[in-house]
Amino acid sequence: MKIAMIGAGYVGLVSGACLADFGHTVVCIDRDPDKIASLHAGRMPIYEPGLDALVAENVRQRRLAFSTSMREAVAEADAVFIAVGTPSRRGDGFADLSFVFDAAREIAGALTGFTVVVTKSTVPVGTGDEVERIIREANPAVEVSVASNPEFLREGAAIADFKRPDRIVVGTQDARAEAVMREVYRPLYLNQAPILVTDRRTAELTKYAANAFLAAKITFINEVADLCEAVGADVQQVARGIGLDKRIGPKFLHAGPGYGGSCFPKDTLALVKTAQDAGTPLRLVETVVAVNDQRKRAMARKVIKACGGSVRGKTVALLGLTFKPDTDDMRDAPSLAIVAGLQDAGARIVAYDPEGMAHARALMPEVTYAEDAYACAEGADALVIVTEWNAFRALDLDRLRRTMAFGEAAPVLIDLRNIYDPASAARHGFTYRGIGR
Ligand code: NAD
Repeated sequence: MKIAMIGAGYVGLVSGACLADFGHTVVCIDRDPDKIASLHAGRMPIYEPGLDALVAENVRQRRLAFSTSMREAVAEADAVFIAVGTPSRRGDGFADLSFVFDAAREIAGALTGFTVVVTKSTVPVGTGDEVERIIREANPAVEVSVASNPEFLREGAAIADFKRPDRIVVGTQDARAEAVMREVYRPLYLNQAPILVTDRRTAELTKYAANAFLAAKITFINEVADLCEAVGADVQQVARGIGLDKRIGPKFLHAGPGYGGSCFPKDTLALVKTAQDAGTPLRLVETVVAVNDQRKRAMARKVIKACGGSVRGKTVALLGLTFKPDTDDMRDAPSLAIVAGLQDAGARIVAYDPEGMAHARALMPEVTYAEDAYACAEGADALVIVTEWNAFRALDLDRLRRTMAFGEAAPVLIDLRNIYDPASAARHGFTYRGIGR
């Protein structure tokens, strides 16, 4: 198959490279000339484990190419995937679909012969109808079928997720489009990934329902964690106790500082708006959004409380800034709200993140950035673990304590990911605060 992938971001670049690895011929197109120039130079514009090698190999095999122009690749393509961003719209929180509609207009002018245009971006119900309308209006003679194929990969494990998905959802009722999509994903039958073919609206909604459910699961355990703290129970053991029940399952039951990232916050909000507009509000999801919003800033208050009620004039060191490990993505990361809350309270912030500091610097210029975890802790009154990077899981606690500043009291370790054992942290001379235990 010949494939054009519009948008070379976290989803487009990974999907394009994986589809090329399946044996298809793929051109990734992005309107950002810097991204394409860096890809031509063999540099990845994002951090995703394994992506550089996968891209290099498929470029070498001439199955993967990059361009700023759609014309040629779209004209030749059997399938054109739209994988552009759908951020929250300023003002009302609904999905901003301008990138998707711009892409559709541009694609329309370049289509020749029967082509399936596939929306891979996360888009609200009915967007496929509008994409189809735009294309037909711009190019009435075109032979096109518009399908939905939401993406479920996770940053940090994106290649494995794309190559071994739990399921593939394809929204189309057109037999020709279904045949093309089955051919695109044929290599995955070997891995026995189930393909679920639905109508377009069902596919679009399935993606939002999945993200809202996962966001609710995280929010549920976060609230249970707060209750555990109040009544003297251990959320880790509660999570294990409920997670072993197959109806519940152990994943997404790690209490923490609240969900962030480029998907859950915007997708839950967009779903809430869709449901309100349809006259069937999703009150559970509305509450999830509200609880999670409050939680991030509450984490700053937790740090302040652990520091004896004030951080004015104190130095707080943050380990981890990205919304999760193994990515450089800073979009809607909890660290942004935590830093703002601590700065408002008068703290000086020093931070270290293995991959996120370039983006973090642009978003939080007043933070001092350190070279590694130990340099970050130097002279700090409190150390906060925000993201559970592997590099932070086995730190030398004695060395950390020695490097931190402290007078009479023990230095404070606030572990928002519960990666340290409270008793062991105390033995090493820390005042330890975890989440829900
Ligand atoms: P991103 O911002 O990393 O990438 C989007 C890219 O599209 C950018 O490089 C941008 O320059 C390019 N672009 C925008 N308009 C264009 C146009 N008209 N022509 C060519 N290029 C254009 O976004 P992302 O994180 O890859 O997300 C893309 C979509 O996938 C979103 O809808 C998101 O919700 C969804 N999604 C993301 C993830 C994830 O983990 N990031 C997972 C599943 C689904």
